[in-house]
Amino acid sequence: MLVGDDPASEVYVRNKGRQTRETGMRSFETRLPASTSQVELLGHVARLNADPEVHGILVQLPLPPQIDELAVLDAIRPDKDVDGFHVLNAGLLATRGTGIVPCTALGCLLLLQEYVGELGGLHAVVIGRSNIVGKPVAQLLLRENCTVTIAHSRTRELAEVCRRADILVAAVGRARMIRGDWIRPGATVIDVGINRVSVAGPEGPRERLVGDVDFESAVTVAGAITPVPGGVGPMTIACLLQNTLAAACAQHGLDAGHRWE
Ligand code: NAP
Repeated sequence: MLVGDDPASEVYVRNKGRQTRETGMRSFETRLPASTSQVELLGHVARLNADPEVHGILVQLPLPPQIDELAVLDAIRPDKDVDGFHVLNAGLLATRGTGIVPCTALGCLLLLQEYVGELGGLHAVVIGRSNIVGKPVAQLLLRENCTVTIAHSRTRELAEVCRRADILVAAVGRARMIRGDWIRPGATVIDVGINRVSVAGPEGPRERLVGDVDFESAVTVAGAITPVPGGVGPMTIACLLQNTLAAACAQHGLDAGHRWE
């Protein structure tokens, strides 16, 4: 569901819809004007909650200011909440390590498991504490027995904190903030940030996507690093599709590896 005409959200929703169809799932888009009221949006959520054809519901964030995001996210049926943002799914992750896990966080974990392997005992520093990325990434890494430090805008000596990390996850939203000399040699860097910056081109300034990490200086120090674009972004969509398949299985009583208690 897309409310309003935020250009970045348009791109995300288009890509998610296309890739959903590529896997053979059906994608239903609900597009609503920026003036949509909270009551109207909740009505659409209730309709999709009740529709047996729909196994997963995603409300693209951010929502316009007249709408309470948390109220909308918590109105989604938890077993159709494929973004994993419902308070019940957040609670399950925090207390039992189960439930539907937010897609970007799950994508980060899968990358680390694939390229690092056993994570137990490693020191992970997560910069950012949002409900959609920082907190769930930290919960997942804790579940994997990492020693987890969560840094944020009030953290003192951030560069020093980062230099202690075996795994550094940047989810800040500030272009190229983390420099190569903040990274411990050989550390694994996951750059979640997607920032639009203007760069000079032959035909004048053009927009380019960069991460929260200064890739050029970091790549010479890190043991491994995700590129932006092309790293965490595609993993997020892959995990969204995986969550949707698991949700559909669970709704039909098939073993999906998830529990909603
Ligand atoms: P957010 O809600 O704005 O949270 C940003 C976090 O960074 C906050 O916890 C904030 O601290 C912290 N922060 C801000 N400035 C800081 C500083 N100077 N030093 C240390 N910490 C600082 O952002 P988000 O939704 O988590 O997204 C983060 C980034 O990931 C954005 O670039 C977003 O576009 C990107 N993203 C990418 C994907 C993907 O699929 N690749 C998915 C989601 C988001 P406080 O809590 O103290 O304010």
